[in-house]
Amino acid sequence: MSTNPVISIIAPVYNEEPIIDELYRRIVEVMDSQPDSWELVLVNDGSRDRSAELMFALHERDARVRVVNFARNFGHQNAVTAGMDYARGDAVVIIDADLQDPPEVILQLIDKWREGYHVVYAVRSERRGESWFKKTTAHFFYRIIYRITDVAIPLDTGDFRLMDRQVVKALNTMREHNRFIRGMASWVGFRQTGVEYIRQERFAGQTKYPLKKMLRFALDAITGFSYFPLQVAIYASLVLAVIAVLAVPLVAFLRLAGTEVFEGQATTLVVLLLLSSFQLLFFFIMGQYIARIYDETRNRPLYIVSELWDPSADGSASDDAPAGDEHHAVIVPDAHDSGA
Ligand code: UDP
Ligand code: MG
Repeated sequence: MSTNPVISIIAPVYNEEPIIDELYRRIVEVMDSQPDSWELVLVNDGSRDRSAELMFALHERDARVRVVNFARNFGHQNAVTAGMDYARGDAVVIIDADLQDPPEVILQLIDKWREGYHVVYAVRSERRGESWFKKTTAHFFYRIIYRITDVAIPLDTGDFRLMDRQVVKALNTMREHNRFIRGMASWVGFRQTGVEYIRQERFAGQTKYPLKKMLRFALDAITGFSYFPLQVAIYASLVLAVIAVLAVPLVAFLRLAGTEVFEGQATTLVVLLLLSSFQLLFFFIMGQYIARIYDETRNRPLYIVSELWDPSADGSASDDAPAGDEHHAVIVPDAHDSGA
């Protein structure tokens, strides 16, 4: 079996057909300019275009490219998780496949790692080619998360980062569902630092994060790292209690004084609707946490692998991989199956 590379680069791929070859070219250009050995772990997250075919071709051409092919779309965070499970390097770099994160920045991440940092995250000092809506929602998202979570998650930081093997090992034991990896990477601790970069425009194609997925992701981040939404109920109940205590003598006084301010059903109806909407909102919030508890209790695997295109596997892929341990529940039926 071949020796492990020093650096692993992980890229999750979902319908990125026009990007694959360019991603490979840029990664090779950057990584071959530095002395360490490296591998590129591409995770195909159930793409419906020709992405898998192109990745398989790359793997055939260059043994440093390993491909984890999912049985269906399991989502961005699970694809990154699979990449971490299969990566073998002493340092692991997560990068978006769409080249919004310039591969050239990896060299700076490696430098910081060499200085002794365990996590080097890339901070977006500027975002290019993204809609006003995306930029604004992202801006507030990172700030809200920062305020309400108990873990200091760096602002304006995505998954683009380098992590030492020690950190990856720790993360690989955390098999929680509905993952927010950038939060988990802060939670584990170790020596962490940031490097600034300018987030570029997508090389081609459209974002794979429509509004619905963005909201889901935000809820995963909040529920995964904060109990604040659950605690809001107590503040709301205190405010309403104070209002009620003040309202009783006030209403009694107005009645006695003969004022007709509170007559009629309209007022009652409005108050009732308002309070019910508050209550339903709290049901929703509780439901979000409960649904996630349900996901944990079922304990389904985070992803299912249908093919592993891995030169080091040689038929023993299911024994060798994933690199993690008993925490995995991954199905690798046939490492030789070229599928595409
Ligand atoms: N991605 C994925 N599975 C998904 C959605 C996205 O693997 O269900 C990948 C996608 O191919 C890209 C990365 O995750 O490499 C980030 O997605 P995208 O660029 O669409 O997000 P954005 O940059 O717009 O936030
Ligand atoms: Mg992108």
